[in-house]
Amino acid sequence: MGRDNGTLLLKGKPVRDAVFAELSRLVAAAPRRPGLAVVLVGEDAASAVYVSHKEKGCDEVGFHHVTHRLPADTAQSELLALIGGLNADPAIDGILVQLPLPAHLDQAAVLLAVDPRKDVDGFHPENLGRLVAGSPRFVPCTPKGIVRLLEHYQVPVRGRTVAVIGRSVIVGRPLSLLLSLKGAMGDATVTMCHSRTPDLPRVCAAADIVVAAIGVPRFVTRDFVRAGAVVVDVGINRIDDPGHPKGTRLVGDADYEGLLGHAGALTPVPGGVGPMTIAMLLGNTWEAMSRVEGVHGRG
Ligand code: NAD
Repeated sequence: MGRDNGTLLLKGKPVRDAVFAELSRLVAAAPRRPGLAVVLVGEDAASAVYVSHKEKGCDEVGFHHVTHRLPADTAQSELLALIGGLNADPAIDGILVQLPLPAHLDQAAVLLAVDPRKDVDGFHPENLGRLVAGSPRFVPCTPKGIVRLLEHYQVPVRGRTVAVIGRSVIVGRPLSLLLSLKGAMGDATVTMCHSRTPDLPRVCAAADIVVAAIGVPRFVTRDFVRAGAVVVDVGINRIDDPGHPKGTRLVGDADYEGLLGHAGALTPVPGGVGPMTIAMLLGNTWEAMSRVEGVHGRG
């Protein structure tokens, strides 16, 4: 296993590759190909990159996929009509509306319009409610990917204390719920921290596992991390770097260099949590199809 200065690197790529290989195997034997529809409204550059990764992922595992690229000034009614059509399309098992949407659109209403049985992002209130109730259907992809990553590297969470920094509906909140669920990859004691948490370094330094899902480059330094603790870095931030050929580079929400030799294990950025998110999206799409067709197997 890869170590850097004694810190175990929790790399997502090998786990993602294993999930992709298993999904390809399952699809080859399935009654039909799972279908994913992606809806992208507007010209956001980062969103366009994420969507192209999702398309490539679908191609790699043999899923059917369609991307609907709509202009930034698309009306709410047009978007809802498109989603209605996808809800009714039997070739489509999963629907993903790429966020954020342009400001004039009502994001909550759009997420509510997706059939919860096709909500492979897990953002529909019904699916979030199921997670809260302890009987999840679709779990949001990034939190699910983090749990799968920890499982793969045999990082125990049962009985451990976890500080999750960030309370977004996309990452921090569902991850906190997931890790505190009863069961093999839950049973953790979770503290959900946020921008109003006083004395954040002290709270985090008491935890066995620190998750950084903040959106602030290299925010989590050694002060936040007990020696030997595990750090999961969810952040993807592009910063200026004159020394880099492109003039910019990606960094996480944790101070990677500063934590090497101090943290027991750490997810690199890029190449840690990121690849897991797409793998879990495809896994959720497989799950949606398998429920409809009554087939089994986990990607
Ligand atoms: P968000 O902006 O919705 O939420 C950020 C959270 O951090 C908020 O809950 C806020 O309370 C908290 N926060 C902000 N400043 C803080 C501070 N100074 N102290 C303590 N808490 C603070 O962001 P998000 O959508 O949850 O994303 C977080 C990061 O993860 C971003 O860098 C994003 O790009 C990245 N991300 C990565 C993936 C992936 O696949 N790897 C997926 C989603 C998001």
